[in-house]
Amino acid sequence: MQKKLRVSFHKPSLFKEEEKAVVRTLRSGWITTGPSTAAFEKAFAEYTGAGYALGVNSCTAALHLALVAAGIKKGDEVITSPITFPATANVVIHQNATPVFSDVLPDSLNIDPAKIEEKITPRTKAIIPVHFAGNPCEMDEIMKIARRHNLTVIEDAAHAIGTVYKNKKVGAISDMTCFSFYATKNITTGEGGMLTTGNKNLADKIAVLRLHGISRDAWNRYGPGGYHHWESFYAGYKYNMFDIQAAIGLVQMKRISAFWRRRKQIVNIYNEAFSGMPGLQPLKYCEGGNSKSAYHLYVILLKLEKLKASRDAIMNEIQNNGVGIGIHFRALHLQKYYRERYGFRKGILPEAEKASDSVLSLPLYPGLADSDVKTVIRAVKKVFERFTI
Ligand SMILES: *Cc1c(COP(=O)(O)O)cnc(C)c1O
Repeated sequence: MQKKLRVSFHKPSLFKEEEKAVVRTLRSGWITTGPSTAAFEKAFAEYTGAGYALGVNSCTAALHLALVAAGIKKGDEVITSPITFPATANVVIHQNATPVFSDVLPDSLNIDPAKIEEKITPRTKAIIPVHFAGNPCEMDEIMKIARRHNLTVIEDAAHAIGTVYKNKKVGAISDMTCFSFYATKNITTGEGGMLTTGNKNLADKIAVLRLHGISRDAWNRYGPGGYHHWESFYAGYKYNMFDIQAAIGLVQMKRISAFWRRRKQIVNIYNEAFSGMPGLQPLKYCEGGNSKSAYHLYVILLKLEKLKASRDAIMNEIQNNGVGIGIHFRALHLQKYYRERYGFRKGILPEAEKASDSVLSLPLYPGLADSDVKTVIRAVKKVFERFTI
């Protein structure tokens, strides 16, 4: 049994202003998709520099809609990273297409551009890079490969609100980018997501697809200017964002840079505290220059050859010392469903598989006090000292 934690793995940073925004929305008489959603979309499009931002009820929904809008269908293949949350590849399967996993870089755990091309076949239609832990993928190289083979690029930016790649915010780089406002992400609406694109045709199509495939959302149907008939254009989805979410999101957006500064500070404190420890290597964070990490997760890679315990044993010990931890991620291709359906075996993606057994995420969120950070460091050092050979 796990003891009560002194520092939990995550706690969302929500304040009075978010509370007020929710109450205001509840009292306004308009709680579903409406003016707050539109305002949140506008703010998000401006923030990222994307032409269009479409609010949805999760990043998973955004990823699914992106695949539908890109025309991904039965028989197609979509290349993605095995170091991700199942949602990234599940949505490919929802389209009756096949997820193809390509190995990651050992220091950032982002998809390795040099290995993508060997996975491309005549059936390949899209690439979904995942900006793991908030560090930008090598987008120039990925976009070059995509253009060469006429593939759509859909970024999984669930970790990447605020990530910058070569002076461009993630959201304004590829064909479509999918963000998450899930409870643990850099900003949150409880549940929620946003899809950005610079392509008006895709934006128009997704706007219709996300709400039943009908031509007018409820707000426009009953808004000023009289009644407009709606028309069913596609067998669409129920993926719309609603105004209670959006009202929280609008407040959270104003906090992005303050949250980012605190996250970066904590990453620096951890990096310094753990430097020189033989049993672990912190993930490589993108720093300086014209790119910027969103510092979504603080991940350490265990050097198992220097340790006399497994990652899981060390994880449990840290938890027993009162510190919550996470695992991001056990390689997706080796999870039960994927193994059984596609026959994946250990050995096909060596870097991802190594990471799968050696990653450990420590608490990283703006609500951590300096004393919490010290508690985490003390617990980690104590456990590693005990288990280092
Ligand atoms: C959280 C997460 C998702 C899913 O986000 P939801 O908003 O919960 O649907 C997708 N991809 C990655 C990498 C994630 O971490």
